[in-house]
Amino acid sequence: MEHGQTVLVLRRLLARIRDVMAREGTSQARLSSVVSAIAKDLAAEVCSLYIRREGDVLELFATEGLRPTAVRHTRLRIGEGLIGEIAAKARPLSFSDAHSHPKFAYRPETGEDGFSSLMGVPILRDGRGMGVLAVQNISPRHYTDEEIEALQTVAMVLAELVAGGDLLNRDELALVEGIALRPMRLEGVQLTSGLGLGIARLHQRRFTARKIVAEDTDHEHDRLRNAVAGMHGALDDMLQSSDLAAKGEHRDVLEAYRMIAQDVGWLRRIGDAISAGLTAEAAVQKVNDDTQARMSQLADPYLRERVHDLENLADQLLEQLLGVEDASPELPDDKDTVLVARNLGPAQLLEYHRRRLRGVVLEEGSPAAHVSIVARALDIPVVGQVRGALDAIEVGDRIIVDADHAQVFVRPRDHVHELFIRSLKTQIDRKATYAVLRDLPAVTADGVHISLNMNAGLLMDVKHFRDSGADGVGLYRTEVPFMARSVLPDVQSQERLYGKILGYAEGKQVIFRTLDVGGDKIMPRWNASEEENPAMGWRATRVFFDRPAMLRHQLRALIKAATSCDLSLMFPMISSVNEFVYARALVDKELERHRYLGGVPPQSVNVGVMLEVPALVFQLRPLLEVVDFLSIGTNDLLQFLFASDRGNCHVSERYDPLSPVFLGMLRDMVQQCGAAGVPVALCGEMAASPLDALALIGIGFRNLSVSHPAVGPVKAAIRSVDLKPLEDYLLLLLDTRADSVRESLALYARDHRIVL
Ligand code: PEP
Ligand code: MG
Repeated sequence: MEHGQTVLVLRRLLARIRDVMAREGTSQARLSSVVSAIAKDLAAEVCSLYIRREGDVLELFATEGLRPTAVRHTRLRIGEGLIGEIAAKARPLSFSDAHSHPKFAYRPETGEDGFSSLMGVPILRDGRGMGVLAVQNISPRHYTDEEIEALQTVAMVLAELVAGGDLLNRDELALVEGIALRPMRLEGVQLTSGLGLGIARLHQRRFTARKIVAEDTDHEHDRLRNAVAGMHGALDDMLQSSDLAAKGEHRDVLEAYRMIAQDVGWLRRIGDAISAGLTAEAAVQKVNDDTQARMSQLADPYLRERVHDLENLADQLLEQLLGVEDASPELPDDKDTVLVARNLGPAQLLEYHRRRLRGVVLEEGSPAAHVSIVARALDIPVVGQVRGALDAIEVGDRIIVDADHAQVFVRPRDHVHELFIRSLKTQIDRKATYAVLRDLPAVTADGVHISLNMNAGLLMDVKHFRDSGADGVGLYRTEVPFMARSVLPDVQSQERLYGKILGYAEGKQVIFRTLDVGGDKIMPRWNASEEENPAMGWRATRVFFDRPAMLRHQLRALIKAATSCDLSLMFPMISSVNEFVYARALVDKELERHRYLGGVPPQSVNVGVMLEVPALVFQLRPLLEVVDFLSIGTNDLLQFLFASDRGNCHVSERYDPLSPVFLGMLRDMVQQCGAAGVPVALCGEMAASPLDALALIGIGFRNLSVSHPAVGPVKAAIRSVDLKPLEDYLLLLLDTRADSVRESLALYARDHRIVL
């Protein structure tokens, strides 16, 4: 069918469905009329509707063309047969010769032997699969993209009718598993840190559009125009709110978001759907569903995030068109709440933040997503990638978001709830204690001074500098602001950013780590190909040795920002001494250029290495002759040493950093650095755990760098320990064959009343 023809057919079909709905009759009779109409208008011999039932089963609910006796009888599991495959993949599939497909599952009771081709689309609502709508033809035929789109539009209409109880008795739908009031523990991925308790508020598109087929297309175009203007106005208001004005990346993220809101292609597609006969809200919904289906095929996480932005904006458009969109309007604003959503945009998070938001649970999301960046700045615990959260959680349920352990407790029993309330209270009390420690040095009980610094990646983190009580910034991950923006920052804006960071640090040392991108750290306009082992791939300095321009621009910006003050920078993922020598030569070239152009150079320039590749451990002697300092990145060093992917939950916890092997290696390095007179620090995540930090100072480290919330707890532990006996004890422990000394060390800490 040609495009124009498809639009006409679709319009006629939607009108027909509207007529069926207006008629009296049983729901089964209506279903039968609907599938007959679809088969007729799409020139198919068969049209069948499968609805998802409890236990992930698809049941044939209505058919035109297959045997009527199969109705309410034929069942397929999700993933079984071609219909099950469409439901599992949540995307349309078409086959001109369905029988020859290896996934084809023959059901004799349906009498489908005679039909060669099949096209099916998922019935989706709020991103959840409700069933499958399929057509079949006797002769082998190719279904065009337009025909697939037409069937998708019809599926969307059916989804609303089914969910609204217009086509089926609601009792027949068993979409939600039998969760009743059972307590549950769900696991996900830690997107930010902290613990939050509250009652569930669902952020879910409540698509209450009873009207799907437009009566007056021009009027619908007008409604869309007004809604777009309203949405832009709301985003502008948010950008101008005084609350946000002060916050750097926060604001950048929202500005990028506004740019996406002006995406012409997206708005045009919505306009086209209106022209095809849908109401404005149905058109927004349809384009959103299409985007979601496409999204599932995107491998690039950066692009996936952009698609999420579009989805979030679709929500905002629906809000403009339909009014309130909060699925929990009955919840009063004075209650602590936990928001549950499939995904969320940064602007939406800010909106909810005003209403006593204590935590967020997302079915999707990633640590580098915009929403995570903003949540981190607002100090909201977020657990992401929690599968089935929206199915498992009901409005008003009691929820505990334990982001530190990437877990969510749903309807916890009273004793669990009380346990967490106590732990929350302890956290609050502890924070007060740490505040008292803020201006005290990190000195052990027997007088050894430890330099305790903080790690940062955003301006917002650095703003915590003074409150944290850190001595300096031991690691500033410069790639984070790059990833949070939709365009690459130029030299000038980098210079401004680095200047601000140095300003917040108030003259204390800041160690800027040059860009650690590539692999899975994706930046805008980054067209690197997908890699099988991104962590060990074309990453960080390796990229910039091949294409030095971006690194040189960064070095230029750093040098300019540090005019008249001290500049410390280090290179990540260095694997050989010569790589460092090359990198350092680039710094020298940029310094020369800066001077040549009349710039005032930094007072001092210290160039170091982030030691995170095991090969470098065996080149320490020559390395120590050329570096100004070392900082050990244990996150990567540990994963490469034990060959255990730090991002893989099956192995990431398997090898304890407190293993005698790892600690022994670290101790050797500290000793070699000491002998060579080269300062050495450790900035991996392990130092943020007070117990691990004790082990590290016990083997000789005198400089640690941890995320800002960990400065207080680590300082408290350091101030409560006598170092000499701890050193002796660790020496004994390192001489064992145990996989880990954690337990022994924890007992030692308890016996010696060390504050953990
Ligand atoms: C490390 O690898 O230990 C480190 C601090 O760097 P990142 O976590 O950014 O890789
Ligand atoms: Mg690293």
